[in-house]
Amino acid sequence: MNEVKNIKTRAVEIAESLKEELWQIARYLKENPEIGFSEFKAANFITKKLEDHGFEIQFALEDIPTSFIAVQKSQESRVRIAFMLEYDALPEIGHGCGHNLIAAMGYLAAVVSSKLGLPAEISAVGCPGEENFGGKVVMASEGLFDHYDVAMLVHPATETGVFSTSNALDAIEFVYHGKEAHAAGSPEKGVNALDSVILLFNGINALREHVTSDVRIHGIISEGGKAANVVPGKAVARFYFRAAKREYLDGVVKKALKIAEGASLMTGASLEWSHYERSNDNLIANKPLSEVFKENLVFLGETNIRPPREGFGSTDAGNVSQRVPTIHPYIAICEKDEFTSHTREYAEHTVSERALDRALLAAKAMVLTAIDLAYDPEKLASIKEAFERH
Ligand SMILES: [Zn+2]
Repeated sequence: MNEVKNIKTRAVEIAESLKEELWQIARYLKENPEIGFSEFKAANFITKKLEDHGFEIQFALEDIPTSFIAVQKSQESRVRIAFMLEYDALPEIGHGCGHNLIAAMGYLAAVVSSKLGLPAEISAVGCPGEENFGGKVVMASEGLFDHYDVAMLVHPATETGVFSTSNALDAIEFVYHGKEAHAAGSPEKGVNALDSVILLFNGINALREHVTSDVRIHGIISEGGKAANVVPGKAVARFYFRAAKREYLDGVVKKALKIAEGASLMTGASLEWSHYERSNDNLIANKPLSEVFKENLVFLGETNIRPPREGFGSTDAGNVSQRVPTIHPYIAICEKDEFTSHTREYAEHTVSERALDRALLAAKAMVLTAIDLAYDPEKLASIKEAFERH
């Protein structure tokens, strides 16, 4: 018990002594924003630094060259821990979701954990393309996380929250092909693809009334014709469908596809549909692991932790959580109503001294969590048991 306490004290000291590196990564990524699957500068910058600290870099996936796994093994390994790093930016906005801080926190947590002589295998897992590309969807389905006992990352936010869920997500594109014709001269010769899209929206709006309240459906018309005097020969709609559970979402999407078919029958326009982004599974935050993280966060002085709640967004970490005990907690980097994420102002704020200090706190909490996992086999067993129960 005392030994663990001493190691924790040392961990905090090492984290303090290396905090410049956390700042460097957060700032470098902020100054060099790259969107999903093209984060070459970020991956290079981070892996070089990990190598300097003795990590062995194994590039993860051939078709996603900006992914990586950096490992440090110990003689005796009682637990295998994956700290997940995200580093993709948003188009135009840059690091408006604060993934530069996710990378910096995961990096520091991995480096500090590797310097404590823990009986643990420590990995920094580089997970590109969280926004719209579903990098972890691919990595999880390739089995890259199956090797680990736990996986974790901390996401910056406007509130600190330890236990969270996220919705499963399907992104579906509906393409209707009709027949162009002069809209006034010979409308009887046309088949109006846009009408099918409008009927699709109306059908989906009717469906909304008969789904559970966790369901979120939102769509756009991405193509709706070229000119008002031409019957639209092609029309395209894109929808996100989300629900708290994958099985339920599958049922909702099945109904939506029926509606889409109906909209095709009503006008005679033919229908093609496809998934235009990778699907996310819902996030199952591991409860006992969340508790360990929370205890450490409180131990480090965090007082304002919001109660557990459901999240209606989606993340590709959901797919990781289906394969290995996972946590995806949030650390407040500002006051609740001060900024909104996915904005330029928020991106600016991620490299403020205040935000970086908050990231340092969360990185320390991840390290202390790793220490607990390495020295408390009962905790680890309860984490695995909770995972199996799901
Ligand atoms: Zn994000």
